[in-house]
Amino acid sequence: MNKTIIISNRLPLQVKLENDELTIKPSVGGLATGMRSVHTEGNGIWVGWSGVTEEELTPELSEKVQEAITREKCVSVPLNRQDVEDFYFGFSNKALWPLFHYFLEYAEFDKDQWESYKEVNQKFADVVIENIEDGDTVWVHDYQLLLLPKLIKDKKPNTSIGFFLHIPYPSYEIFRVFPWREELLHGMLGADLLGFHTYDYERHFLSSVKRLLKLEVNFNEISYHDRIVKVDSFPMGIDYQKFHNAALKHEQRSPNEKTEFHRRLEDHIESSPDAKIILSIDRLDYTKGIPNRIKAFEFFLDKYPQYREKVRLVMLAVPSRSNVDTYQKLKRETDELVGRINGKFATVSWTPIWYFYRSMPFGNLIDLYTSADVALITPLRDGMNLVAKEYIATRVNNDGVLILSEMAGASIEMSEAILINPTSYEEIADAIKKAIEMPLEEQKTRNHILQKRLARYSVEKWAEEFFKSLNATKTIKEAIVAKKLEKHLKDKIISEYHNADKKLLLLDYDGTLVGFKNNPQDASPDDLLITLLDNLNQNENTDIVIISGRDRETLSKWLGGNGYNLITDHGVWLKHAHKDWEPLERIKKDWMDKILPVLETFVDRTPGTFIEKKNYSLAWHYRKADPELAQRRTVELNTVLTHLISNNELSVLEGNKVVEIKSSNVNKGRAATRFLTDKNYDFIMAIGDDWTDEYMFEELPENAKTVKVGFKNTKAKYYLKDTSEVRTLLNQLVS
Ligand code: UDP
Repeated sequence: MNKTIIISNRLPLQVKLENDELTIKPSVGGLATGMRSVHTEGNGIWVGWSGVTEEELTPELSEKVQEAITREKCVSVPLNRQDVEDFYFGFSNKALWPLFHYFLEYAEFDKDQWESYKEVNQKFADVVIENIEDGDTVWVHDYQLLLLPKLIKDKKPNTSIGFFLHIPYPSYEIFRVFPWREELLHGMLGADLLGFHTYDYERHFLSSVKRLLKLEVNFNEISYHDRIVKVDSFPMGIDYQKFHNAALKHEQRSPNEKTEFHRRLEDHIESSPDAKIILSIDRLDYTKGIPNRIKAFEFFLDKYPQYREKVRLVMLAVPSRSNVDTYQKLKRETDELVGRINGKFATVSWTPIWYFYRSMPFGNLIDLYTSADVALITPLRDGMNLVAKEYIATRVNNDGVLILSEMAGASIEMSEAILINPTSYEEIADAIKKAIEMPLEEQKTRNHILQKRLARYSVEKWAEEFFKSLNATKTIKEAIVAKKLEKHLKDKIISEYHNADKKLLLLDYDGTLVGFKNNPQDASPDDLLITLLDNLNQNENTDIVIISGRDRETLSKWLGGNGYNLITDHGVWLKHAHKDWEPLERIKKDWMDKILPVLETFVDRTPGTFIEKKNYSLAWHYRKADPELAQRRTVELNTVLTHLISNNELSVLEGNKVVEIKSSNVNKGRAATRFLTDKNYDFIMAIGDDWTDEYMFEELPENAKTVKVGFKNTKAKYYLKDTSEVRTLLNQLVS
C-alpha cells in the first residue's frame, strides 16, 4: 500500500532526557494536528530529528528512544551535536531565518555552516530513501530542509513530492543577497508542489525563479527540465475546535477546578474591574517586534494619559534559541524596556506591564486568551502567526479585539482585525485606543466573521487542500501529450533508423543542438558538435538538414562548409550540401522600415533587450531583461503590432525569450515538406525546441519521429529534456 512520508526538522515528539531519565510523549503542536490523519492512517511515517543528539544517547537509551519513536510511527534522523550547532542553530537560524524575515543585518553566511546544512539535508535524504517505496508521497516541511526535495527527486524521480515553507519567502531583492541562491532554488524545485502561506510569498518565489534561474513561468507553473513544478498558497489554519472547546470548558469551570494561574488572574482583574487586559504572546524573537510593541505602549500611555491605571499589557515571551547571540541581546533589551516603563508609570496599585519570560502549558494559554480584552500582536515579519488565530478561536462570546500587524501572513485572511504597521507607534497607540473603545456589537460582528473563516479553514483542511493539490500535479504530467523518450522508445527509434533505406534528420539549431547564450552571436558550434554532425553525416543514406531561424550568413559561416543541408531564415533559403544557396520563397522586405522604429521604442524602454536584424525578419530578444517587465512588454508589443499589421502578410512568433516578426508565408513546416519531395524518405526525424519548430512537427508525415526539447506543450510525439539529451541521442544514431 502506498504511504505518505512527512518530513520535518523535528519529529512530533517531545523526548526529554534529564538525569539519564527518559520521557517521551507526542507533541500537540499545530503541524502534528494537521498531519494527524495522513500520519496515522495506513502506514504513513514521519521522518525527523528526535531532539536528542547522538552524544547524549547511551546504547541503552538509544534503544528506548528508538522503540518509542517506532511506536509513534516515526523514523529518526540521527544528528550529532556538531550538526545541531552548525545546521540548526548555525545556518538555519543565523542565515536563513533572518534573511527570509528581512533581517539582513543579522544574517551570517558562513561557508562551513552551509556545508553542514547540505550534509544534514543529505542525512535526511538518506533516511527517507531507505524508507521510501514506489508510489509513496512525500511532504517536506520548512526552511531547514530546502535542499531535500531535490535530493529525494534525484534518487526517486517518480515520487510525488510536496514542500511547504512555514516562514515568509522574501522579495527577490532580499533573496538575491544569499550567496548560494541558485543551489537553494534548485533544491526546492525538486518538489512537484511548493506551498506558501500567502500569495505574496508565492509571487516573490516565482520572481526569484524567473530572475535567477531564467525559467519559464506560466501563471503558477514552472517549466523545469522535464517537469512542471506547481506553486500555490495555502494559509495554514489552527485546530479551531481544540481552542474553542477549551475556552468553553474554561468558562464552565467551578472555582475548585480553576488553575492557580487562573485564580491569580481573576484576583487581579477583580482588584481593578475597569482595567482592560491587553495580551501579547510570542517567542522571544527579533521578528516579533517585542521592543517596538513595548515602546508603542509607552507612547500610548503618554499620548492618552487618561488610560493610565485603566489598561495592563500582559506580555508572555517564550524563551527561544537562547544560546544565539542576537536572542540574548533581545532578552536584555526587553528586560530593560519593561523595567524602565514600569518604573516610569507604575503606581502603588498598578503595574502597566506584566511580563512573563517562560512557556506556559496549554491550560494557562487558554486562561490568558480568554481573559484578554485585546490581543496586541505586532510582529515586524511573521510567516503566518497562529497566536492571532488562537486568540480569536477562544472568544466564545464573540467579544475581544485583535490588533494585528500587517506584516504577519495571518493579516491577509484576518482583515476584520485592526491592522497596523508595526513600526508606527502612532498607529499602534491609536489602535489600542480604538480597541478599548470599540462597541461590543462591532467586536461581535468582526469576530463572528473571523471565527467562521477559522473554523472552516482549519489546520486539517489546510493539509487536505495541500494534498489534493499535490495529487493533482500528477495529472499535469499526463496533460502534456508528448512522451518522454525513455530508453525503450529510443531503442526502437534507433533500430528503425538503422533498418531504413533513406533517412532524413531535420535539426533545429539554437536550443536544440546548442544551448542559449545571452548574445546570439556567441552560440557558434563547438568542436564536439561539429564532430558529432560530421560522424552522423557519414552514416550511409542519411541526409542532415540544419533548419533554423538564423540568417544565411551566420549559418554559412558556422556550418556552410561541412556538407550538411541548411535551411535558414525560418525557411527562406535552402542550401543543399555542396551546392549553392537557392531561395525557397520570394519575400518582400519593405515592411521592415515600418516595424523597426516600433521595435526600437521597445528597446529604449526595456533595458537588456535588443533587436536582431535578419535578412527576412526582425527579432526582439529579451533574454537579459527583467522577466516580468519583458512579459508585459511582449503583450504590449503584440497589441501594437496587431494594429500595424493590417493584412495577413506578416506573422508574429514568440520564440524562446524572443519575439520575431516575419512574412507569413515562411515557416519551417513549408520548408521541411519541400525538402521531403526530393527523395522518398522512409525514416524522418525532426527535433526542435520552440514555437517555430511546431510548424515542422505539424506538417511532417504521420510516421515522422518528432521530438520537442524541453517540457512544454507541443505537437511533437516525444520530448527530450535538454540539448545534452539531444546530443546523446544523435551520438547513439552514429554508433
Ligand atoms: N505557545 C505555546 N506555549 C506558550 C506560548 C505559545 O505552546 O507558552 C504556542 C501558541 O499556542 C502557538 C505557537 O506557540 O500555537 C506560536 O505560533 P506562532 O505562529 O504564533 O509563532 P512561531 O513561534 O511559530 O513563530
